[in-house]
Amino acid sequence: MIRKFIRRVFKRGEPSPHAVETVGPDQHGIRPEQVSSAARRTCEGLQQAGHQAYVVGGAVRDLIAGIVPKDYDVATDATPDQVRRIFRRSRIIGRRFQIVHVMFGAETIEVSTFRAAHDEDTLKDEHGRVLRDNVWGNMEEDAARRDFTVNALYYDPASGQVFDYHHGVRDLQRKTLRMIGDPRARYREDPVRMLRAVRLAAKLDLRLDPVVQAPIREMAELIENVPAARLFDEMLKLLFSGHAVECVRRLREDGLHHGLLPLLDVILEQPLGEKFVMLALADTDQRVRAGKRTSPGFLFATLLWHEVLANWEARKKRDELPVPALHAAMDEVIDTQGEKLAITRRIAGDIKDIWLLQPRFEKRAGRAPFRLIEQQRFRAAWDFLHLRAASGEAPQELADWWLAFQEADNAGREALLQPDTASPKKRRRRRSNSKNAAEPANAVPPAPTFDE
Ligand code: ATP
Ligand code: MG
Repeated sequence: MIRKFIRRVFKRGEPSPHAVETVGPDQHGIRPEQVSSAARRTCEGLQQAGHQAYVVGGAVRDLIAGIVPKDYDVATDATPDQVRRIFRRSRIIGRRFQIVHVMFGAETIEVSTFRAAHDEDTLKDEHGRVLRDNVWGNMEEDAARRDFTVNALYYDPASGQVFDYHHGVRDLQRKTLRMIGDPRARYREDPVRMLRAVRLAAKLDLRLDPVVQAPIREMAELIENVPAARLFDEMLKLLFSGHAVECVRRLREDGLHHGLLPLLDVILEQPLGEKFVMLALADTDQRVRAGKRTSPGFLFATLLWHEVLANWEARKKRDELPVPALHAAMDEVIDTQGEKLAITRRIAGDIKDIWLLQPRFEKRAGRAPFRLIEQQRFRAAWDFLHLRAASGEAPQELADWWLAFQEADNAGREALLQPDTASPKKRRRRRSNSKNAAEPANAVPPAPTFDE
């Protein structure tokens, strides 16, 4: 304890290797009105109470790069308790890494207290991954523990100046992603930084500094030690960044996709699987960029579909009945992938809904299409079918038929129906089951008939 204290005092006494640069609006180009008013008011409130407070991290980086930030972080020398007392609508989040959420209307600003850089006493796992990171520090130390130079910029709304300890503004203007400190050491501390490097480079169209790029391939396997829930969060960020296609391309180049989604490499090696996944990612990118709604369930359903297909095929070859075989295949894939990826129960439910509706598109006679179209997840399932057709795995004519069926009025739908080829026995059974027609929208779909 005393040793640590002495070391810290001496460390503070050393001349700073990173003189701070003050960058004015003419150089960084951020106009005050571009900054969210909630972030400005958070800084104002803290500064009025006598604290330092800056907009920090991704938001400053994005504003300089001309991108609208998705959220705002504020860094301050106030402790979480002090922050909490200043803002009536705020709450402390997290036990180990305490931060404060400050709410203004619908917007939430994440306020964190300056943290210190690591030293020899930092708790790490056997691979060097940092397990605890909650020692408070000053602004310079806070800058040093951030990952990339472009993420260590502090914007003061009061003066309009950016404080830059690691030449982040210059790197951003030169379109280079540079690590603060030694990239190998920083990846060892937190392997997720490899994924962040790829994602941020894709998002901001940056070149990876060669020393940031070089160790990734050989260190990629460290990703496997990252807790599943954290990996899942990072994966969602990546897939919904609006640049998923570019991210996956870069991940494959760097051998990083193994850790992310262990079966993704297998899927991407199957010609139809690769086409399907890439089409789904391109579709998601478009939706994100157009500000449309996206759903993790849909995207994961696409990523894992070819795995389900392969598993299902294998089971049918072993003479398992098609429907139970599909259920078993789905469960097996979700169980293996779900555990590694921390797919939540709710998302797993959405994924299965979409998969289970696929075989039902094959029935285009009788009342089945009318029942299918009433399903709550019909639209998502049709979008899925549409991608399957575009990749060549399902007939295009089938997807087109369902589009026409959706758009037709009742008479038009009747006219589109195909002749019912089911045996009279089956038809009778179906009619006697007609209470199915009144099934709740999200009921488990009745077993499809397979006319194979
Ligand atoms: P975006 O919000 O676009 O996903 P971001 O860089 O803002 O990107 P956040 O997860 O919001 O990502 O992190 C906010 C800031 O916290 C970063 O800009 C960076 O300064 C710091 N940070 C985040 N993750 C790490 C990490 N793994 N190691 C070091 N610093 C990090
Ligand atoms: Mg952010």
